[in-house]
Amino acid sequence: MPKSKKDNLFGKSLKDLEQIVLSLGEKPFRAKQLFNWLYDNRIKAVRDAKNLPKELLEKLNENYTIVHPKIVEVLEDEEDGTKKYLLELEDGELVESVLMKYDYGNSACLSTQVGCAMGCSFCASGKNGKVRDLSSEEIAGQIVAMENESGERISNIVLMGMGEPLDNYENVLNFIRFTNEVLGIGQRHITLSTSGIVPKIYDLAKEDLQINLAISLHSAFQDKREKLMKVAKTNPLNELIKAGEDYFDQTGRRVTYEYTVIEGVNDTEADVSELKKLFKGKVHHLNLIPLNPVSNLKRESSKKNVNIFQERLKKEGLTSTIRKKNGANIEAACGQLRNRKLQSPST
Ligand code: SAH
Ligand code: SF4
Repeated sequence: MPKSKKDNLFGKSLKDLEQIVLSLGEKPFRAKQLFNWLYDNRIKAVRDAKNLPKELLEKLNENYTIVHPKIVEVLEDEEDGTKKYLLELEDGELVESVLMKYDYGNSACLSTQVGCAMGCSFCASGKNGKVRDLSSEEIAGQIVAMENESGERISNIVLMGMGEPLDNYENVLNFIRFTNEVLGIGQRHITLSTSGIVPKIYDLAKEDLQINLAISLHSAFQDKREKLMKVAKTNPLNELIKAGEDYFDQTGRRVTYEYTVIEGVNDTEADVSELKKLFKGKVHHLNLIPLNPVSNLKRESSKKNVNIFQERLKKEGLTSTIRKKNGANIEAACGQLRNRKLQSPST
C-alpha cells in the first residue's frame, strides 16, 4: 500500500488543529468541532465531520486524511468473545492487537513496535528481531481500529502486544498522554509491561504518571532468566527489583511481576524457593501466565501446572494471580498471527 501523501489528522492536538484550520482561512473554533469529530466520535474519514462548512471540508479533504491501522484479519474466540486483530500500518508492516471483554469493561492489548529486539526465547514477537518503532498515533490508532470494527468502547489498555514499550520510550509516553487527555482513558486504566530495562524504569518513575507497571520476571535465578531473556544480561535481577521498588515509591502504583510458567523450566520447587528469597520482606504480586506454545520454539505449554505452581507459591507466602487465558481458542500469543502471515502471505 503506497504511503498516503496527505497528512494524517488522527493524532493531532487541538493546537495543531487550530493552526490547520487557521491556515485554511477558517475561524479557530472550527478546530474544536473537528477535534470532537476525530476523538469523541472517532470518525474514519474527513467527510464524516458532518457539521463543518462544506468549503472547509473540501479544503481539509484536499490536504488531509484520517488514517487508522487497516484491519487485515480478525479472529474471534466464540467462548469468551476475545477478538484478535492483524493490522496493517501505512507502510504495509503488520502488528497485532487484542480486544478482551471483562465484567468491568473492554480491555485492549496493543503493540508498540513491529517485531521486537529483545528476543525472548518463548516469544513469537521477537523471533525475527525488531523492524521499527510505532509512532504514538499508530499505537493509539489500534484502539480506534478495534472500536470501529467491534462497535465496542475500550476502557482499559495493556501494552503487552508486540514490542518492548521502553525500547520506544518517547512515542509510548506521547501515546499515554494522548490516550489519557484526548481519548479519555484514565492513566490508572493503562498498564505498561516491560521485559525489565532498568534505567528506563527509573526514567518512567519520574514522569509523574499514574500508570501501572508490569515487569516480566519469568525466573528468580539470574542465570535462568538470562537464558530465557537476553535483556536480563544487561539488567540484573537485583537492580531490576530495586527499580521496581523505586517505581512504587515514586508513584504509589503497585508493580506486578509477570511470570510465564514454562513446565519443568521455571516452575520447580527450587524456583519457588528462589522467588521467596528474592521477594523476602518486599511488596510483591506475581501474575502467572500460562505459556502459549509458539510453534517451532519447542516449549511445552504448562496450563495444568500453573495451578500446582500457584499452590506452592501460596505455601511460601507469595501472592499471585493466574492470568485468565483470553482467546485460548485463537492464536492469542502476540506475534503468532503476524508470523503466520509473513510465512504464507496469501492466507
Ligand atoms: N515486551 C514486553 C511487553 C510485551 S510481552 C514484555 O516482555 O513485558 C507481554 C507479556 O507476554 C510478557 O510478560 C511476556 O513475557 C509474555 N509472553 C510472551 N510470549 C509468551 C508466550 N508464548 N506465552 C505466554 N506469555 C508470553
Ligand atoms: Fe519482546 Fe516482550 Fe516478546 Fe521479550 S516477551 S521478545 S520483550 S515482546
